Amino acid sequence: MKTLDQFDLTGRSGLVTGAASGIGLAYAEAIAEAGAKVTLTDIDAEGAAREAQRLCDEGYEARWDSCDVSDLAQVAAAFDNHVAANGGCDIAFANAGLDVGNGFWSPEEKRNPDGQIDVYDPARWDKSIDINLSGVFRTVREAARVMKANTDRRGGSIVITSSNAAEVNEAIVGVPYMAAKAGVKHFMRHAAYELAAYGIRVNAIAPGPFVTNIGDGWVKKNPAAKQAWDKLVPVGRMAETSQIKPLALLLASDAGSYMTGAHVMIDGGMQLGPVKPL
Ligand code: NAD
Repeated sequence: MKTLDQFDLTGRSGLVTGAASGIGLAYAEAIAEAGAKVTLTDIDAEGAAREAQRLCDEGYEARWDSCDVSDLAQVAAAFDNHVAANGGCDIAFANAGLDVGNGFWSPEEKRNPDGQIDVYDPARWDKSIDINLSGVFRTVREAARVMKANTDRRGGSIVITSSNAAEVNEAIVGVPYMAAKAGVKHFMRHAAYELAAYGIRVNAIAPGPFVTNIGDGWVKKNPAAKQAWDKLVPVGRMAETSQIKPLALLLASDAGSYMTGAHVMIDGGMQLGPVKPL
């Protein structure tokens, strides 16, 4: 088989959580462009429906579902609905995540004392862990359930969105966000080990700063904040979401058939040196 043919996803199908926006939407576009039937799920049902319709209008095979990853029943239903529509599920992106604030994007919030450990709001901590870590667990749990049932298929590929914050201690990133993403990394390694016997690969993408709607779209709304972030990145700029598509396709497709348990950085070199405060 020619190298490029290994990226072809014709006859496969995949589900993406947090697909109405940003990195999740780029994942959905990437696998649809490679020939897969895709389900876009999001807590923002309107956004998922809008983007799925846009993909259909562009000639791809897309559907949508409303799914809040804080609710196991909703995650299970989204996978069951996907399987009912497609006869199985080959690819899953556990991507939904959020920043609960305290300085990830906004210099104003950095001055908020809530960002200090000794006064940190436990409700913010719980929310971040519930979505960024437990939400990944719920998604991988249900993906594994339906992929193990792929008896007539070729196993599956699960891709988790981690962060460079899983590797480096970034003072400007939310405290629970770092803890959640580090947890995601190690959970991914166990899931990859356990599911290898079923032909299911599990990997994580660890992005550095991408221009998305995270943090209420702070960097989209504030050119000065975007320029400040650009200066923190060794390659000199934040990334656009289209730049994550080739990596997503590598991990989702047979091109990545010998990759499992990998935590792949795509961060413009952010892990190479200390991140200076804004
Ligand atoms: P984004 O805000 O553009 O997209 C996140 C999507 O997740 C949104 O559509 C949102 O509605 C959805 N979402 C939020 N809570 C949800 C829930 N409970 N259930 C289902 N969907 C929910 O942000 P993004 O930057 O594209 O974030 C995607 C992932 O990338 C997250 O896991 C984030 O932590 C990670 N990440 C982003 C960056 C970055 O610089 N943008 C860097 C590292 C990691």
